[in-house]
Amino acid sequence: MTAGGQRSLHQAAVAQFQRAADLIDLEPRYREILSYPKNEIIVNFPVTLDDGSLRVFTGYRIQHNNILGPYKGGLRFHPQVDLDEVRALAAWMTFKTALAGVPYGGAKGGLTLDPADFSRDDMRKIVRRFTHALGSNIGPDHDIPAPDVGTSSETMDWVMDTYANISPPGFRQSVKGVVTGKSIAVGGSIGREEATGRGVLYSLRHWCGETGTRLDDLSVAIQGFGNVGSHFGLLAAEAGCTVRGVADHTGTIVNLEGIEVEKLRSWVDEQGGVAGFPGADDASTEDLFSLDVDVLVPAALENQVTLERAKAFKGRLIMEAANGPTTPDADDYLNDNGIDVVPDILANGGGVIVSYFEWLQNKSARAWSFEDVDDRLRDLMWQAHDRVASTHKEHNCTRRDAAYIVALDRLVDVYNRRGIFP
Ligand code: NAD
Repeated sequence: MTAGGQRSLHQAAVAQFQRAADLIDLEPRYREILSYPKNEIIVNFPVTLDDGSLRVFTGYRIQHNNILGPYKGGLRFHPQVDLDEVRALAAWMTFKTALAGVPYGGAKGGLTLDPADFSRDDMRKIVRRFTHALGSNIGPDHDIPAPDVGTSSETMDWVMDTYANISPPGFRQSVKGVVTGKSIAVGGSIGREEATGRGVLYSLRHWCGETGTRLDDLSVAIQGFGNVGSHFGLLAAEAGCTVRGVADHTGTIVNLEGIEVEKLRSWVDEQGGVAGFPGADDASTEDLFSLDVDVLVPAALENQVTLERAKAFKGRLIMEAANGPTTPDADDYLNDNGIDVVPDILANGGGVIVSYFEWLQNKSARAWSFEDVDDRLRDLMWQAHDRVASTHKEHNCTRRDAAYIVALDRLVDVYNRRGIFP
């Protein structure tokens, strides 16, 4: 528990899967295994910065589970990063990959810093030293990082290049798959950049099919306009949704007639945030959560949809593009009040699915077309949604519980067949 008696983020993540485990009477030994990360790697490494000063940084890589395949999960660079957060994010990855049906386990890593405080040269040095410090704890068949909050394809290019340079010469070309989310020129996949946002739109399409709702009738509010939020916003607007509100770390903007998302994207590229966008009115953070919209898409950080904000929400659906955006009490309130929640491990699985495609392309030294990537992304998202939808009906449980049941079924099946060593 935290000092205030609240569950920590990792404890909340464990409680989520335990709820689903109760519904399927999961054997205690599997509950026990999945309640702990397998490995917790903490590294301290020095970097001489541009101004000549030396700073020691602390980096985390938490490897939660690898029964289904190599550890897989993003690297987050943000001032709020701490061990507990990374533990929770790593556990969610185990369930996300199992649910998506890709042959990976779960991991997450991070640095407690704001990339905006450092020059590009400093960030490159920090990323290289972090990668060097992680050393053989990552690898293309062992643990495969990817972008998350505060990291990008450029970060992944630096990780890959550093890892290649510390590999024996004969392996330098075959280690490209040590990270996914690289730039295309460096070995990334077409379609990876927008994959998470695209997957969120597929999730919304599936929900529309389930509930008999027209996608182009929906109005949307988005919290977070980085990789996931901006790509989702662009695609949703293209599909006919009205984006009425957007918030990021610089502010909140609202236009009930609809925000022109392409123009907002150019504004954010130039200005660094949504605040002051001429095509909308400035508003408060709380205005975003009480806006007159059908769908709220949190695409920023954890614990943003609090009980108070859930009570203020007027719409029908929370589509969790971010990881862990809904607090447990808000989740209970939404479920009790008939507001649908499509859970993170299902809604934002598009990123790890296309990461898997990138890894396959790296292994076979081939490049797929956009159509190949997109068709297969849609198929895997659809299969996961179909299974969650039928489990949701069969068990008469929440979509979150159903998503965990589907993931647990897959994990437990493999544990049962392989047995527990020795
Ligand atoms: P990003 O760094 O590209 O963007 C983060 C966004 O959140 C930015 O717009 C930032 O301004 C905003 N933000 C930060 N603090 C905020 C605050 N207090 N209030 C409002 N907005 C705030 O990160 P991203 O990759 O888009 O990741 C967003 C979420 O999606 C995270 O939860 C991440 O774990 C999850 N996710 C990302 C991927 C991926 O492929 N990048 C995949 C799956 C899940």
